[in-house]
Amino acid sequence: MGTLRFKLISWFLLVLLIVLVVFGLLLYLARERSLYATLDSELQNTALQLANQVDIEKEEVFLKSGEFTFPKDMYYEITNEKGELISKSTTLQEHNLPFVSPDKEKQNFIIQSIPSWEKHPLRLITLKKIVREESDDEDSKKPSVALNSQTLFIQCAKSTWLIDEELEELVNLIFWVGLATFLIAGLGGFFLAGRALLPIKQITQTVQDLSETHLSERIDISKFDKEFHPLATQLNAALERLEKAFQRERQFTSDASHELRTPLSVIVNNIEVLLKRQRSPEEHVEIHQSNLETSHQMQHIIEGLLTLTRIDAGQISLQKKEINLYNLMEEVFGNLQSKAAQHKVSLINQIEKNTSISVAEDKFKQVLINLLDNAITYNRPDGSVTVASQKENSGITIKIIDTGIGIRQEHLTHIFERFYRVDPSRSEKTGGCGLGLSIVKSIMELHGGSISVTSDNDGSIFTITLPNN
Ligand code: ADP
Repeated sequence: MGTLRFKLISWFLLVLLIVLVVFGLLLYLARERSLYATLDSELQNTALQLANQVDIEKEEVFLKSGEFTFPKDMYYEITNEKGELISKSTTLQEHNLPFVSPDKEKQNFIIQSIPSWEKHPLRLITLKKIVREESDDEDSKKPSVALNSQTLFIQCAKSTWLIDEELEELVNLIFWVGLATFLIAGLGGFFLAGRALLPIKQITQTVQDLSETHLSERIDISKFDKEFHPLATQLNAALERLEKAFQRERQFTSDASHELRTPLSVIVNNIEVLLKRQRSPEEHVEIHQSNLETSHQMQHIIEGLLTLTRIDAGQISLQKKEINLYNLMEEVFGNLQSKAAQHKVSLINQIEKNTSISVAEDKFKQVLINLLDNAITYNRPDGSVTVASQKENSGITIKIIDTGIGIRQEHLTHIFERFYRVDPSRSEKTGGCGLGLSIVKSIMELHGGSISVTSDNDGSIFTITLPNN
């Protein structure tokens, strides 16, 4: 009952019903008016003709005999002012017409419908006429003088049965034609609404057929009318995104398992070696040392994965606050100082001392550590890492410029992908797992900011932007 098809049909039929009723009513009223107008003019003519036949002589009113013959389907009655009957039609037999007097001043006649002794009402005209007796003194030079005058009421009536019957037929016709139109339009509307809504069924079917393993299915837009194109296009775009998200998810899970499998097998292998035979204390220390390092590596991967999945799941809420960027950078430099010294890389802070930013401090610090750690790791001996910032209208940009090995063009678009490493064998040595930059990107996006990179043989420049709050 609550279906769109039902609602469409209901509204359509309601509007159609109103149109049909109004149309039928107007048709009926117009026809009734025209029929009564014809009858009234017929009655009026007859009454006037009858009035012309009336004469008075010696105070006696009588009907002149002439060519005029009174219609057989009408009645007439002539009465005087006192209501005395002067003459009536034979068609009236024992009946009398009810006396209705026209308004004395304004009207000469009045037409109205009155109930009668017949099944159908009568249409009655009452005409007022004053008849005068003329002097027949032929010698008199004076204009003829009225000797005697009388006010007469000439009434003519006709049954309305013909009109009633015609109107009844018209009502029947309007009803049946209206009913047929209503039914045909209803059926047609039902069919058309079904057809118009068919694409929704087809789209629903396509979406129903989708499953995790079958996400490549798309809606064939060309099959639908133009109105459905935006819906189908949007659904296809959503499917595209969903498919990509599923692919990423699968890739991520498989990469994560792969990344964890390598260090785990190193640990398992070490323990097996240890258990094979009696080992010297030095060998024990060496193997435990290796296991510890590998465990740290796994811990690093798992922490990275956790951070990313939390960001993806929207579980991380940013507690932003105003902090001094120069001071934060000095803190990060302090954390990385020993690594920089090992790599013989100098760290240069060119940020203006009073630069302040609004960020979630711990997260943003992680961004800087990841970027600077990479800038040191992939640098050359006696190289440098310079950080600088610039205030802009829309926010602030921070550049991390290194004099390192650079990143080749074909890798530049991929380095922010999860687990992507330019040189996996080198990363293994450096302990990198390819999650650092994707974490940076996610945190920057969480802040409403972004990250980009340019690189050549002389080094790389990572630029992060933070919007104004
Ligand atoms: P990793 O933990 O392996 O360093 P990242 O996501 O931080 O992973 O970096 C991805 C890859 O990008 C690295 O494997 C490295 O090859 C490259 N890379 C990142 N930063 C730099 C840099 N400053 N100079 C050169 N290569 C870099």
